[in-house]
Amino acid sequence: MVLLVVAITGFFWVSTSVAKQYIQDQTIQNLSNQLTIIERVFQQRPNLAFNDEWLRAFIINHRQHRLTVIKTNGHVIFDSNQPADGMDNHLNRPEIRMASTSPFGVALRESKTLSKPLVYVAKLASNGHFYRVAVPLESLRHEWGRVQQKIIIYSIIVFVFCLLLTFVMSHWIASPIQQSIVVLNAIKNREFYAMSPKKSFIREINNLNQSLVDVANNISRFIAKQSKEKEKKDLILNNMINGLIIYDSHMGIVLMNKAAFGLFFNASQSNATMHLSDYPELFSFAQDILKTKDVDPIEIDHGNGKTILISGSIYSDGTEPRGILIAQDITKLKRLESTRQAFVANVSHELKTPITFIRSMFETLIIAKEKQLDVQLSMIKKGVLHSDRLTQIIDDLLQLSKLETSGGAIEKYDVSLEQLIGEVVNHCHTMADQKQIHIRLNHNDVIIHANQRLLEQALKNLLENAIKYSKNETTVTIFSTRSDDGDMIHVQDEGPGIADAHIDKLFQRFYRVDTARSREMGGTGLGLAIVKHIAIAHGGRASVKSTVGVGTTFTIHLPKK
Ligand code: ADP
Repeated sequence: MVLLVVAITGFFWVSTSVAKQYIQDQTIQNLSNQLTIIERVFQQRPNLAFNDEWLRAFIINHRQHRLTVIKTNGHVIFDSNQPADGMDNHLNRPEIRMASTSPFGVALRESKTLSKPLVYVAKLASNGHFYRVAVPLESLRHEWGRVQQKIIIYSIIVFVFCLLLTFVMSHWIASPIQQSIVVLNAIKNREFYAMSPKKSFIREINNLNQSLVDVANNISRFIAKQSKEKEKKDLILNNMINGLIIYDSHMGIVLMNKAAFGLFFNASQSNATMHLSDYPELFSFAQDILKTKDVDPIEIDHGNGKTILISGSIYSDGTEPRGILIAQDITKLKRLESTRQAFVANVSHELKTPITFIRSMFETLIIAKEKQLDVQLSMIKKGVLHSDRLTQIIDDLLQLSKLETSGGAIEKYDVSLEQLIGEVVNHCHTMADQKQIHIRLNHNDVIIHANQRLLEQALKNLLENAIKYSKNETTVTIFSTRSDDGDMIHVQDEGPGIADAHIDKLFQRFYRVDTARSREMGGTGLGLAIVKHIAIAHGGRASVKSTVGVGTTFTIHLPKK
């Protein structure tokens, strides 16, 4: 628009000044022609009076014009606008001076006589007179005004037309560019749908848009390929059981998989960020890896109770070395290891006592040959007792081991609970009688789904314990209950009860409330562990409720069939 305004103004200025000059030149030419005609008329009619009809008609026809006839000495002899008498000498008028040397004298000036600007054209005729014709500049200006008006109208028309053309052109140019912007925005926002920008009449813009579409398609293909690769990588990384941490030479973590995150943080810390420097042991291990490449794995005890085994290696991606840490949760392994160690220690201890006794007994027998037969007999009896104990421990351990290795795959069938309890009571009858303990039965005759031999074993363990730990002349009750969840078999005694502190550990192997007393009674410390494992093998569990001084109730929970 600015360009247009400048151009139109320039055009207007040039055209008006050209028109002005043209009108002026035409007027002068016109006046010169008139002078030539007047000169000829005066030549042909030398005696023409100034009041002649032709002259009057000429003056009337050219009302605007002023005709002056001046003698060679400058004396005015005729003037169409004014009486010549009293007019001053005109010899010094510029047009007259010019006419005396040139074919025509021209001047644009203020008339001293008429006091208004005029255009003068003068000619020296052959009769020695100067003929001069003048028109007021006003009439010229009028003409200029008319021309100027037309130029203004044309200029406005051209301006409006150009303006419209500019708008249309800029729209034509801008709308395909708008399409380029749409394509670029789509690329920016990663929206690679089928792009088809509008065709433009400008070839370069079409080429640009086509190139952009090609770029977008290439990027789209590249991103699709990359995301597939990433998906694959993520799938592998996140499904790895072991944690993986990759760090750079500045000890900053570059990559960490799900498993690694799960090892160092719990579920509520999903937004946490890990820094190697938060774990001094891990930090120095990671540093050693970058320095020496080959470092033995370390175990770190994480604050959340986990033990993590960290091994590491180094790789270079071409620019700088990077460290890889593999983190493995060995908490369970560690626990198993310590359980195994404790178990071995317990078994060794349990076995050592009877073996030591048997050995010392034989030594005594060798040394004391002369001892009396009855003493020897009692020693041998004790030896038999201890060998029984050894057998019992080994039997119990074998039983536990079998239960554990069966993994719950035991044979189950419908069993009459009454019959099963009857067998158990029968087995313990003598033992109960010795302590005058009354065994009370209060159960329904229900059919349960179980392995009779194993369940008998579990109930036998519970009943034996109840008899063993209860005082003489008390009652032990075996009863059953049934709920929506399944059947429960309870063994209740009126024994000493068990303090709360022991309840949680009671079903552990070799755990005893009173070790000495248990041993004295021939207990192995494995009875309740066997009960627990038999219940688990049936898909159920074992529990205990006890009040010190009142009694204890052990329960085996059996799930529904
Ligand atoms: P043990 O062979 O020593 O009896 P168990 O595993 O059967 O081993 O029992 C573990 C410990 O639980 C026993 O040493 C005893 O202290 C305690 N206990 C088991 N049953 C009873 C009970 N009915 N009343 C009191 N204490 C019991």
